[in-house]
Parts: sequence; C-alpha cells; structure tokens
Amino acid sequence: MLQQTQVKTVIPYFNKFTKKFKTLKELSKCSEKEILKLWEGLGYYRRARNLLTSSKLLVKEYKSKLPDEIKEIKKLPGVGDYTANALLGLVYNKPTIALDGNVKRVFSRLLNKKVLKINFEKFIELNKKNLFSTKRNSDFVEALMEFGALICKPKDPKCGICDLNRTCKYFNSSNKIKNIKNKMIKSKNYDFFCYLNKKKQIALTKENKISFLKNFNLPVIKKMGNISENKNWKFLRSYKNSISNLKLNINLYYKFSNKIPSTYNWYLLKNNKEFIPSFTKKIFKQISTLF
Ligand code: SF4
Repeated sequence: MLQQTQVKTVIPYFNKFTKKFKTLKELSKCSEKEILKLWEGLGYYRRARNLLTSSKLLVKEYKSKLPDEIKEIKKLPGVGDYTANALLGLVYNKPTIALDGNVKRVFSRLLNKKVLKINFEKFIELNKKNLFSTKRNSDFVEALMEFGALICKPKDPKCGICDLNRTCKYFNSSNKIKNIKNKMIKSKNYDFFCYLNKKKQIALTKENKISFLKNFNLPVIKKMGNISENKNWKFLRSYKNSISNLKLNINLYYKFSNKIPSTYNWYLLKNNKEFIPSFTKKIFKQISTLF
C-alpha cells in the first residue's frame, strides 16, 4: 500500500484491510472484485491484484509462510529486489539493504559520488563486514530508510546534527555532488466518448487499447485530434487528470443511446456497488452534471 503513497493516506485503508482479513488464508479466499472494492481510491490497483495473487501462492506453495530466500520471495508478483530485500531484513533479520531512493542518496552523499556512478551491489559486497556488523539487521534496514527520509533529506540535509558528518565526504567537500531527479512528466491528449442512458447510467468497458489504462473500466477512448469522428457526440468539457507520471488532457463527449457495443456494460453514476477506480470516478463526476 505504501508504494508511491503517503502513510497518512494508507492508514485508514490498512486498518480496514487488516480488520477484514485476519490471516493470509482469509485474504487468499477473497475475490478480485472484493479486494478492489476495499482498495478503491488508493490507486495503483495492480498492487491489490498482486497482493491477492501472492497470498494465494503463499498459502498454496509455502504453507502460508513468507519464504526466507530472495529467489523464492521474488517469485511473488510485484516483488522485485527492493521489496524482497526489505522483507528479508525486516521479517527475518537477514543482512540485507533495501535500496530505495532515500538509501541510495545516503550512500551517494557519504561517498560524494553521484547515484548513477555507484555500483551498489559491488559497494555492498565490498563493505559487508562494516555494514552488517550488527545483529539487529531488521532495525538497520528500517533505520537506513528513516535516516534518508528524516536526516539526509533530498533537499537540505541536516548535516549539523548528523552523526556521520565527520566522515561524510559530501559534508566535508567543497565540491558537493548534485543528484538531479529526472522525473519525466509526459502529457497526453485524449477524447473520451461516454454512452449514457436516461437511468443515469454510463457504459464502460475494460477493453480499451491504451496500455496504461489496462484493466480500468472506461468509456470509449481515442487519441485527440480527429474532429470528424466526434461529430455525432456532444462536447461536455475539457479537464486534466494525472495517472502515474502522465498528465492527461481530456475532452469529454457524450451521447444518449440505448445501443452499446457488446463488450460494454452499464454502470450507475451514483451509488455504484462495483469497484470503480478514482480515475473513472472523475469521469462520473463530470457526467453527473448533466443530470
Ligand atoms: S553529513 Fe549530511 S550529507 Fe552526510 S550523511 Fe549526514 S546528513 Fe547526509
């Protein structure tokens, strides 16, 4: 839940989730529909699907226990190097380091060397005696992440109160490195075409061809531009929405029709009991102004 999401946003979801599923077995028995409904509003729904698949795999193949080998943990969907190392350290107290952006920055500053210029695997291997001199590896994994987030912060590191400042090459250098974050924000333009009916319903399908919107319930989507295609539709409004690192400029069109393509289903705009991702809910909000 915490991937790409702030703690304060996650807390109510986490509480609701752990109240509903007391054991891995209980979680593994829930349906995708049910887990998505609980996740509704948290975004990045692939995490929910992966969690469900992982729980099934753990119950079936690993007697409901997290494996303690990196190779095995990485078989769980959605678990890469970072999560696998974090789990091994936090759960099994194994000598590992979960290399997220914060931790990489800490090492990069200690060495005064750019993140991209460090071979972290080699660095950890060469320094393992010093890095893993503690028996409290679980605390060490956590502490490194917290240290990066609270002391050796991206902007304005708190070097004055840092215990490592005597040996830190960044602090002691007159030529400090700069790690520039290249977060590419792309902008894309789409036309959304919504079939509506008088029962305040909208027709949606999961079969759209836009890869980053895969598995979303959505109306007809086309790349913006071909005005002749739009002439049978009424323009409602333009608005912006973001998804991952994409900014979408959306033109919303609608038409009332009882005939819809066979892969579409009707959904109520309000009081819908189905799982509706926030992205689609924003479409509902715009469309609701018509009724
Ligand atoms: S001295 Fe400053 S730059 Fe170096 S590790 Fe501490 S907080 Fe980070």
